[in-house]
Amino acid sequence: MAVSATTSLDIQKIRDQFPVLDQEVNGKPLIYFDNAASSQTAKSVVDALVKFYEKDHANIHRGIHTLAERSTKDFEATRERVHKFINSAEADEIILTKGTTESINLVAHSWGTKFLKEGDEILISQLEHHSNIVPWQLAAERAGASIKVIPIDEHGDIIMDEFKKLLSNKTKLVAVNYISNSLGTINPVKEIIALAIENGATTLIDAAQAAPHVKIDVQALNCDFLALSSHKMYGPTGVGVLYGRRDLLEAMPPYQGGGEMIKDVSFNGTTYNDIPYKFEAGTPNIGEVIAFKYAMDFIDELGHENIQAYENELLEYANAKLELVPGFIPIGTAKKKASVISFLVKNVHPYDLGQLLDVKGIAVRTGHHCTQPLMDFLEIDGTVRASFAVYNTKEEIDTFCEALKNIAERFN
Ligand code: PMP
Repeated sequence: MAVSATTSLDIQKIRDQFPVLDQEVNGKPLIYFDNAASSQTAKSVVDALVKFYEKDHANIHRGIHTLAERSTKDFEATRERVHKFINSAEADEIILTKGTTESINLVAHSWGTKFLKEGDEILISQLEHHSNIVPWQLAAERAGASIKVIPIDEHGDIIMDEFKKLLSNKTKLVAVNYISNSLGTINPVKEIIALAIENGATTLIDAAQAAPHVKIDVQALNCDFLALSSHKMYGPTGVGVLYGRRDLLEAMPPYQGGGEMIKDVSFNGTTYNDIPYKFEAGTPNIGEVIAFKYAMDFIDELGHENIQAYENELLEYANAKLELVPGFIPIGTAKKKASVISFLVKNVHPYDLGQLLDVKGIAVRTGHHCTQPLMDFLEIDGTVRASFAVYNTKEEIDTFCEALKNIAERFN
C-alpha cells in the first residue's frame, strides 16, 4: 500500500513491524481503526514474549537458579523502563498491575479504605470510563462518601468554572481521564490537578488513552496517582501500571494478600513487604510485563511528538473528508482532541454501520464504549468510533470514508 504523509516518520517501516496488519478480512485488506480499544502489538514485543516462553520462563523474585534470576532481572527492567517513561521520582513508585482497571480498583480499595471518610466527596467527570466510575461508587458506598460529577459542554469539554464550583473542603479526591476514550477530548489535566491540590484534594489520572499519544511526566503533572494499560500502547494484554507517590503508597494498606507482598507470615500476624511489592500479590503476567518494555522502547524511538503530529494529521484529514458523508454527525468536537472520531450517520444504527464496515474489512468500535453516563448526557445509545494509531494511513482513511459514503448514500 502506498503511504503519503508529511511526517518524518517512515510509516511503511512502522507498518512492517505489525504483521497483523498485512491480512485480508472478508476479502478486503484489513483497516484497523479500533486502536482506542486495543492497539496492535509491535513485532519486537511479540518477539520478547516468544523469547520469554521459549528460553527464560521462570517465576520471579523467589528462585536463585539462573532462569529465575534472568526473568526477575527482565521483569524489574520493565519497572525501571516505566519509571523513565513517565518520569516518576523513583522506580519503587511503579506498581505493575493487570491494567488501568486494576490500578484504579487498587487505589479505590486501598487508599479509599484508609483515607475516605463519611461525608467526603469524590469528583469525577462526565467523560469517565466505567473503570473510573464504578470503583469510586464502591469505595464511596463503603465509606459513606459521595460522588460529584464535573459537567461537560456540548462539545465534550470539561466546564472548568463548574469544576471550580464543585471543589470544596469536602473534596477528598479528583479522578479524571487525561483523554476521553469515547470523544477523544484531551482534558486540561495539569490545570485540574493544580486546582485540586490548592484545595487539598488527592488526584488520580486515568491515562489509559493518553499513554500512546502524549508524553506523560508524572512529576510535571504533579498528580498523586496515574493509571495506564500496556495493550493500548502496542504492548501485550494483561499488563498495566499504577504510579503512586511514595508517601501515599506507604501509608496505604495492601490491596490483595498472598505471596510476594509479605515480609513475614505467622498465624499470629503478618508483616508486609515494602512498596512496590506490597501491592503485587501472587504471580504476575511475567512474560507480558517483560515484553511491555519493548512497547515503551517502540514509542520512545518514534517520539511522542512525532506520533502526536502524525496522528493529528490523520485526524484533520479524516475530519475534512467525513464532512462529505451524507448524514454524518460528529459526536465530540472538543477544542483539543486525540485521534478519535466518534460519530453517527443519520438513519443508520451504529451497530449496522459497524457490521457494514466490517464487511469491507474495516474494524471500528460501536456502542457506549464503557461510558454509559456520557451517552446518557449526549442522549444517545452509542456511537461508531474510529480511532487511529501511528501505523494508520491517509489511504486507509480514503477507503474508510468512501465505504462510509456508499453506506450513508443508501440510507439518506
Ligand atoms: N480508562 C479509559 C479512558 C479507557 O479507554 C480504558 C479502556 N477502554 C480503561 C480505562 C480501562 O482499561 P483496561 O480495560 O485496560 O483496564
